[in-house]
Amino acid sequence: MQPKHFIDGSWMAPSAGGLLDVINPATEQVFAKIAAGTSADVDQAVEAATRAGRGPWARTTGRERAIVLRAIASAIEAEKQALAELEVRDNGKPLPEALGDISDAAYCFNLYATYAEELDDNQGAPIAVPDARFKTTVKYMPVGVAGLIVPWNYPLLMAAWKVAPAIAAGCTLVLKPSEFTSLTALELGRICAEVGVPAGVVNIVTGLGGDAGAAIAAHPGVRKLAFTGSVPTGIAVAAAGAREIKSVSLELGGKSPIVVFDDADLEQVVEWVLFGIFWNQGQVCSATSRLIVQSGIAPRLMERLVAEAKKIKIGDGMDDGVLLGPLVSRQQYEKVLGYMEIGKREAHLLCGGGRPAGFNAGYFVEPTIFADVPADARIWKEEIFGPVLSVATFGTEEEAVRLANDSEFGLAAAVMSGDLERAERVADRFEAGVVWINCSQPNFLEPPWGGMKKSGVGRELGTWGLKNFLEIKQVTAYASKEPWGWYLK
Ligand code: NAD
Repeated sequence: MQPKHFIDGSWMAPSAGGLLDVINPATEQVFAKIAAGTSADVDQAVEAATRAGRGPWARTTGRERAIVLRAIASAIEAEKQALAELEVRDNGKPLPEALGDISDAAYCFNLYATYAEELDDNQGAPIAVPDARFKTTVKYMPVGVAGLIVPWNYPLLMAAWKVAPAIAAGCTLVLKPSEFTSLTALELGRICAEVGVPAGVVNIVTGLGGDAGAAIAAHPGVRKLAFTGSVPTGIAVAAAGAREIKSVSLELGGKSPIVVFDDADLEQVVEWVLFGIFWNQGQVCSATSRLIVQSGIAPRLMERLVAEAKKIKIGDGMDDGVLLGPLVSRQQYEKVLGYMEIGKREAHLLCGGGRPAGFNAGYFVEPTIFADVPADARIWKEEIFGPVLSVATFGTEEEAVRLANDSEFGLAAAVMSGDLERAERVADRFEAGVVWINCSQPNFLEPPWGGMKKSGVGRELGTWGLKNFLEIKQVTAYASKEPWGWYLK
């Protein structure tokens, strides 16, 4: 793949000529380059998107767009192995996880094909109004050019979560993948061209957040911003959007709790707690990174968790049986190691806590568990975004709920108990947009996804994700032969 942007259906060299290295996090070797986008590149992409949005694309029906979406889904599925391997080299995650991500991305395009068809059926739905002389209906139209800015933890999948609904809604778009993991997004551009997505509907500009990302957020031609990433960047994106009164949806960070009661099934708890914090190297916005465990089960659970954490195979995501790959970048690696050092001063280290022995290269860290973590510790409050679990114990249900909700974030929360009534009672009290009972992390694309408090604004996925990209229009018609009779008596 040439280091170019995908703009107006073609590959375009970066206007300022800048290139960025793409590093395999397992080897620290540069294996590709991407274009370093500037505001001039973003201008071109937004112009192309604006032109396409005013052309024949504007008159397509949802059913026509569903055909395009299904074609993208089929192409992704057909190239699943190659795309997954590219994701592993770019991001570091184990291959089975990458294969799952690529399948989910294809599923996402298929799902939004269905929603695009349903959109046709929902156009012009009547709304009952209390004056029979009027007939009111509701119609939907695309919000316009959408700016989509995504992170590095699920590179193609996070792009799919936004590109698929934007296309379904009839928008045109400019996508900026993370500078650390742009390669599968560029492959998506190629796929769009190959399956006949009209030029200018999908544009992809790579580059640094402060350059290409900020230019998209500020561009007056972009009417919708859909952002996934960290809280500080979300604030910058929202502020830029506010200056142009753009519609902004934000999927931000988290520090999600998993509450475990004494009556929970111990082995089930071990499985879900490990999955909740070590899957994708803990680089998961909804990772259940705070374990809040009742004091009766705590000693046995800690013993089992430590024993299992020590067995996790660390290595290159391409190697068989690896469950923990490298972190995505040197920056992330240093950040996580820094938190491990902070944790050693704040709490009691049970296992891990540094770089695993025997690795000469690569951004590898150990699965790490800290116990007796105080509620004011930085490792309890701040998002680490790595395989680091912080544990605290509780006595009463009331105490557990208070500890769980005592966070500036509100993305996800989990509860594990043999008493389903209690689990549901606790679930109702969680201040989180996503709640799991007796599990952690399973994610389907039909329900809404998003957070409360500083975890974000709005919801993605399902039909909620489609509405992100739609303007809603009421059409009210005077349908009576009788004169209105206000001025003309
Ligand atoms: P980040 O905020 O550093 O970057 C996200 C994207 O924003 C990247 O494409 C980046 O280039 C771009 N960007 C950076 N500065 C920008 C600016 N000034 N203007 C516009 N764009 C800019 O986040 P990250 O490190 O890539 O991802 C990790 C974060 O994402 C974590 O906090 C994680 O919780 C969050 N996340 C949230 C969800 C969710 O669904 N809630 C999902 C995945 C990741």
